[in-house]
Amino acid sequence: MMSKNNLIELKELIQASKNIGVVSHINPDGDNLGSLLGLGLSLKSLDKEVYMIKADFIPNDYIFLNGIEELKTFDGKTLDLLFVLDCSDKNRLGLNQNLFDLSTKVVNIDHHISNTIFGDLNFVDNSVSSTGELIYDIIKGLTLPMDKDIAENLYVAISSDTGRFSYENVSSKTHEVIADLYDYSIDAYKLNKKLYQSRSLDRTKLFIEAISNVNFYNNSSIAIVKVTQKMLRKTNAKMEDTEGIVEFLRDTDSVEAAFLLKELSEHEIKVSLRTKSNVDANMICSAFGGGGHTRASGCTIKDTIIKAEELVLMEAKKYMD
Ligand code: 5GP
Ligand code: MN
Repeated sequence: MMSKNNLIELKELIQASKNIGVVSHINPDGDNLGSLLGLGLSLKSLDKEVYMIKADFIPNDYIFLNGIEELKTFDGKTLDLLFVLDCSDKNRLGLNQNLFDLSTKVVNIDHHISNTIFGDLNFVDNSVSSTGELIYDIIKGLTLPMDKDIAENLYVAISSDTGRFSYENVSSKTHEVIADLYDYSIDAYKLNKKLYQSRSLDRTKLFIEAISNVNFYNNSSIAIVKVTQKMLRKTNAKMEDTEGIVEFLRDTDSVEAAFLLKELSEHEIKVSLRTKSNVDANMICSAFGGGGHTRASGCTIKDTIIKAEELVLMEAKKYMD
């Protein structure tokens, strides 16, 4: 909801603030980090003390982002204003939840359907492609500074969160935003090579290992793939190297729901769900205390990976046919 009143209120808040924080969430992805750096770098060129704050380690995939070295743990005392980006609820901030107590005002900018509207000011619209697109609207709406570095971050945010501009919530407006970003001389080919053509060999090996152990259920409309600690040891890969596996399975014609189960430890399984046509991923993951989008959601199951497979299969079957 990018209403004029909201934008005016945000402008006044920024003007009145000296210390501003922009925080990422746990397991940060391209939309989260690109949006954070885009907004953070823009605010930094105003006369403000800007803290770009991480809530978790930064996956290798994104260390090429402009300004990534600015992302640190918070070392200040208090904040006048805190921006929380691409984050559906407070829990997703992990240890950084304490920033809510240290901040006078919180601005929540997000496009998750499961967003809990936790900010003093909320820019939440689940019809928008990505938080990156919302950040673009805010930068333009408030005439904040934009340059090549910022534009490249927003390109990464939008491209990575839309499956390279292919999902349902991509609009003509999304493409207009991208066209405008090109006018800041972004090197889109360089960014695409970094994002989509730089997979490590270990990651490819993990991919093969995981995919070769996939299970199909319900006339092959449900795919469940597991990544165990044992597989990681065998392939020398890390859990972040699971990127892309679940989407690959989703893209099978018979598959409506694809699950990836990541064995973080013996009794902690992180679930990634992707769906295609009729099944609401957010609804399924909500049953386990998670959430996300209609087509991409996640949750954590505190049980063994075998039990987690049974549980998600049972839940998914309720929504099939
Ligand atoms: P991924 O499967 O890539 O980790 O996450 C897919 C989507 O679901 C992302 O938009 C992410 O924010 C959301 N998501 C993943 N895990 C959780 C979770 O445990 N809780 C909530 N609320 N959202 C999640
Ligand atoms: Mn997003």
